[in-house]
Amino acid sequence: MAVSDHVDLDGFIAGVRRRNPGQAEFVQAVREVAQDIFEFIADKEQYHRHQILRRIAEPDRVISFRVCWEDDKGEIRVQRGWRVQNSNAIGPYKGGIRFHPSVTESVLKFLAFEQTFKNSLTGLPMGGAKGGANFNPRGKSGHEVMRFCQSFMTELYRHVGADVDVPAGDIGVGGREIGFMFGQYKRITNQFTGVLTGKGLEYGGSLIRTEATGYGAVHFLDNMLELAGQAIPGKRAVVSGSGNVALHAAEKFVELGGTVLTLSDSDGFIHDPAGIDQARIDWVKALKGERRGRIQDYVKEFTGATFHAGGRPWSVPCDVALPCATQNELTGADAKLLVANGCIAVAEGANMPTDLDGVHVFRTAKTIFAPGKAANAGGVSVSGLEMSQNSARIAWKEEDLRKMLIDIMRGIHDRCVEHGAVAGGKYVDYVRGANIAGFKKVADAMLAFGVV
Ligand code: NDP
Repeated sequence: MAVSDHVDLDGFIAGVRRRNPGQAEFVQAVREVAQDIFEFIADKEQYHRHQILRRIAEPDRVISFRVCWEDDKGEIRVQRGWRVQNSNAIGPYKGGIRFHPSVTESVLKFLAFEQTFKNSLTGLPMGGAKGGANFNPRGKSGHEVMRFCQSFMTELYRHVGADVDVPAGDIGVGGREIGFMFGQYKRITNQFTGVLTGKGLEYGGSLIRTEATGYGAVHFLDNMLELAGQAIPGKRAVVSGSGNVALHAAEKFVELGGTVLTLSDSDGFIHDPAGIDQARIDWVKALKGERRGRIQDYVKEFTGATFHAGGRPWSVPCDVALPCATQNELTGADAKLLVANGCIAVAEGANMPTDLDGVHVFRTAKTIFAPGKAANAGGVSVSGLEMSQNSARIAWKEEDLRKMLIDIMRGIHDRCVEHGAVAGGKYVDYVRGANIAGFKKVADAMLAFGVV
């Protein structure tokens, strides 16, 4: 009998906690996946014998480095940067870079772990990674951001490459930052390759990459609602966040006939009972562009809207919820409130925005619930398409890419249904479906490689 046969879920998680002291987010992410995988592999001896889950929960490597830069006053600042390369079993490492003061090794390990399953679910050949730094872009000048990005890449360039590891954007890293990092990579290596995605269109970027995560989340929601005999037109959504993912999710939801009632940032949320239409979304896009304005300014511009300092939008009655800001922003109590107020579906645009209690509430209430690893995979999918275009040195048309995104989201949805349908197909547990479908492809590749 294999060693791991003696270990139950709690024993496994206790081991993960012991080996990763103080890394609560990472342990949380592993637990969320492990509970479904333990059930799935109960009768599959080969996965036990090869310690597959234990190996996926141990990153291939964690690179940590110093990032020095000079601010506009000439003072030297020191930050810490990381790249967590979790698994390249099914393709080159792939995952975003996050610049935010809350970034820690634990947060990046959780994100790289999740990314491994997400990328597998897309059906494209991409492994899982994540990187970032505890750098706060808020209040920094363009020159400061440029110097930071250059310094960050001066170390990172050794660890990445078009066939090795292909980073992209995430919180605090948009097109501007990707441009600065790509420029520095090119300068150091003298190579023009597809080493990053989310690039500008002039230098190898793909159309609809910017929109893809938010749009993809709403396409996923659309698929879930359709299966449940529902549809977006006439539905009211609460959206959290006001960054890339939130604003594009809001845009697509409005385009498909729904009404968006809220947006938020780290200061609080705004509630606009009149609905945040495309013109208002455009206004927020301008507000949140390079000057990184505050969402509370919305109420000065649009009468009838209210700002709720320090709050999150989950108390506003709605039909669907789209958490699109950050991890653990929707708790068990929030989930109960949403269910009590009639929310029938949740699609996570952010990574792990719902904590374990919240997920439990939704699963118990049979709320239609899409975890981020499935619902927000549109962004990395179009990144995968950007890699293909770079390799072939071509650029696909926007309408073709839009269709590919819709098809990929449908494929992810159907893979979740395949492994997540319960109660004779009456309810789809998308968390379970995403975990198992994502795991299986990576696990089978690992079995083929033997013990490496
Ligand atoms: P942005 O930086 O564009 O926006 C992040 C938004 O979340 C901002 O409104 C920000 O507010 C808010 N926010 C950040 N931290 C907190 C916090 N601690 N509490 C409350 N609000 C917070 O990032 P993205 O939109 O790109 O990313 C959002 C989420 O989506 C993340 O979880 C990311 O990992 C995930 N994601 C992103 C993808 C992408 O393609 N960009 C792909 C897949 C997932 P403020 O302005 O105050 O900072």
